[in-house]
Amino acid sequence: MHVAYARVRMAPRYYTSAYGSSGTCTKRKPPAAFPPHAENAQRANLIEGKKRCQSGRKVLPGRGKAISAALMEGLAPLHVHNWVRYTAIAIQALSGMKTTNYDAIIIGAGHNGLVTACYLARAGWKVLVLERRYIVGGACVTEETFPGFKVSTAAYVNSLFRKEIIQDLRLESYGLKILERNPSSFTPFPDGRHLLLGPDPTANHQQIAKFSLRDANAYPAYEAMLERMATVLEPLLTISPPNLVTPGLRDLWTLYRTGKPFQALGPAMSEAFEILTAPARQILDRWFESEALKATLATDAVIGAMASPSTPGTAYVLFHHVMGETNGKRGVWGYVQGGMGGITQSLAAAARDLRVEIRCEAEVARILVRDGTVQGVALANGEECYAPVIASNADAQVTFTRLLDSKQLPPEFSEAVSRISYESASLKINVALKELPNFLACPGLEPGPHHRGTIHISPDQDYIERAFDDAKYGQPSQRPILECTIPSVVDPTVAPAGKHLMSIFVQYAPYRLRGATWDDLRESFADRCFALLNEYAPNFQRSVLARQVLTPLDLERTFNLTGGNIFQGAMTLNQLFACRPVPGFADYHTPIRGLYLCGAAAHPGGGVMGAAGANAAREILRAASFRRFSPL
Ligand SMILES: Cc1cc2nc3c(=O)[nH]c(=O)nc-3n(C[C@H](O)[C@H](O)[C@H](O)COP(=O)(O)OP(=O)(O)OC[C@H]3O[C@@H](n4cnc5c(N)ncnc54)[C@H](O)[C@@H]3O)c2cc1C
Repeated sequence: MHVAYARVRMAPRYYTSAYGSSGTCTKRKPPAAFPPHAENAQRANLIEGKKRCQSGRKVLPGRGKAISAALMEGLAPLHVHNWVRYTAIAIQALSGMKTTNYDAIIIGAGHNGLVTACYLARAGWKVLVLERRYIVGGACVTEETFPGFKVSTAAYVNSLFRKEIIQDLRLESYGLKILERNPSSFTPFPDGRHLLLGPDPTANHQQIAKFSLRDANAYPAYEAMLERMATVLEPLLTISPPNLVTPGLRDLWTLYRTGKPFQALGPAMSEAFEILTAPARQILDRWFESEALKATLATDAVIGAMASPSTPGTAYVLFHHVMGETNGKRGVWGYVQGGMGGITQSLAAAARDLRVEIRCEAEVARILVRDGTVQGVALANGEECYAPVIASNADAQVTFTRLLDSKQLPPEFSEAVSRISYESASLKINVALKELPNFLACPGLEPGPHHRGTIHISPDQDYIERAFDDAKYGQPSQRPILECTIPSVVDPTVAPAGKHLMSIFVQYAPYRLRGATWDDLRESFADRCFALLNEYAPNFQRSVLARQVLTPLDLERTFNLTGGNIFQGAMTLNQLFACRPVPGFADYHTPIRGLYLCGAAAHPGGGVMGAAGANAAREILRAASFRRFSPL
């Protein structure tokens, strides 16, 4: 079904349109890599390409070419706007500034920005991606932080990335490989017991029964409940949410389509609303009695959130994290071979084959706007690039307050943006290890099943609550929650032979500290986390070869994530679906004509999913086909 939306709805609509964007007149041969379903689109693209070529427009990569192209443009019968535009280009070229013209410019090469770029390029658009870092990927990236180690600097596990995108863009042919983890989680307890959970129902029953037979019997029904909810909620990920502020016919139709599956749930509808609004603890306490199981499941409800399991709305975060799949298995999280950058590197390779131009170390400083319409972007180095469509992969705060002047936006919109919560309390430590942790609860230095999945250091729900209490008062947790993964056990390519790589996702490390700064606390807090892990695996501290600590402040500095929020904005009910980023603009449009959001700041939010990027591309192509903005 999702493949269909890309094949049937996106591309052909554009091709039948006569969208008068600026563009290149380069004729493109269909790349050999195109899947058969794109062939019609490619054929149409050539026709469209021919049409645009008649205007004689050229790509203007440099000064000389800019002048000659501007002169050539003058020979063709052009819209008066274009005269103005190319005169400006010629003037800028003469003044030594580099100028370029594109159909669309993407600000940021996070995975969502790359997905948008690919789908637009697949529709025949000339696309430029500008990334401020030296590498593409945003928070979904692999870097050689320690020599010989492939470190997933930020995001570390995958299950949410949409399979239709993998198929549409043939990412496996560009090297993307997802490796399953079985078991998927291991929770050691201070009393020496442990709980392993995974995709095998029999093994789960046996593991949970060690703590409670009643819970072991209830667990399959709990999973079935989540599955039922997924059938209703998951399709919402790939739709453009309706405008609830000034709904049009299309919005009403979307609302109807959204409500219909809920109706089909019948009496289970109340369960669905509970998932959307309730505290995770309320749901877990009702289903289960064993703290061992509840604490293991509850970590999914608070990940990336400045919230504890008893905060309303956390049940949705819990659900958000069980929605994906690995190799067709729902709720199973996997490692990406070679690190999470495998996703973004394969996307970038696919994009390049589609003739997307990707430039790194190209920070956008301003979005250029005239009369409420985007014109292009100005880079931090003074260069300007032009396009009638700009899609921002940066978060809403960066896009609307740093790259635009608030005077360019309606005041009520700016106010709504200023209300977006970026509260966060996540910290990441990447560690190079000379040996595996030897857990008291599961002794052994050789790779075992318990090393494969996510290792939870959070023995009960009250522990999580207490850890959160510290954060509420501006202090990092005295005894934090640790979520550790050792991808090198499943994927030996990420560490030198005999060595291992560990990722530790830590909560709570509030962005706003009381009476201290993260530059002061970075190392001492990391020491606290290491000492805690050492209580469970006493060889841990002495096995550390090197570490990288990314506090919320570092996440903000490195990835331009406001407040260090890993999801580009909190995933609370008031900031989801039709309210993401703000009510009235959840369909990827913004108050500036031609400017779109295409990243996690928009629906469906954070996580390496690609849905925001694909949805944004669909909206951009739809708008183009309706000629919603002027050709300039
Ligand atoms: C520490 C951490 C751990 C996480 N763990 C997981 C996980 O295990 N699994 C999971 O699914 N999700 C995880 N997430 C969430 C997930 O990584 C993000 O939600 C997702 O990567 C967002 O992707 P995006 O493309 O929308 O934006 P981003 O990845 O934020 O990319 C935005 C890009 O825009 C660039 N940019 C910003 N401003 C400018 C500018 N002015 N000019 C040019 N470029 C600009 C940035 O440099 C960045 O490359 C994690 C996130 C973090 C931070």
